[in-house]
Amino acid sequence: MKKVLVRCYKGFAAANGKFNIEIVFTVPDIGYYKKLFTCIHCGELFAVDQENPRLAGKPFDKFVANEVCPKCDSSLTQTLRAYPENFRTDDGKIGHFIPEHIIPPDSESLVKEFWELL
Ligand SMILES: [Zn+2]
Repeated sequence: MKKVLVRCYKGFAAANGKFNIEIVFTVPDIGYYKKLFTCIHCGELFAVDQENPRLAGKPFDKFVANEVCPKCDSSLTQTLRAYPENFRTDDGKIGHFIPEHIIPPDSESLVKEFWELL
């Protein structure tokens, strides 16, 4: 698995009574975008290129069948979740965040490194 740089935006989520938990999310950008996933066991983040032809018309779990999390060695078929719809906090709680469907200003974007799936 290799690392990839992805443009994303910062958001703040709440989970289990804690607020201002920083998460990141991606938005469709001129038809090109990477969907983010997390290993719910350790919180490691992954990006999937939605344009990857290998993904076309095939169930996503087929592609992660043999992949293990580089951080915690979990089988990703068991632990991979859509992110930030699901995220793991530093103290091991599970939170949920649904990004708004508006694209924030460029000044709020950052480029972050993720493991690339596929
Ligand atoms: Zn993991």
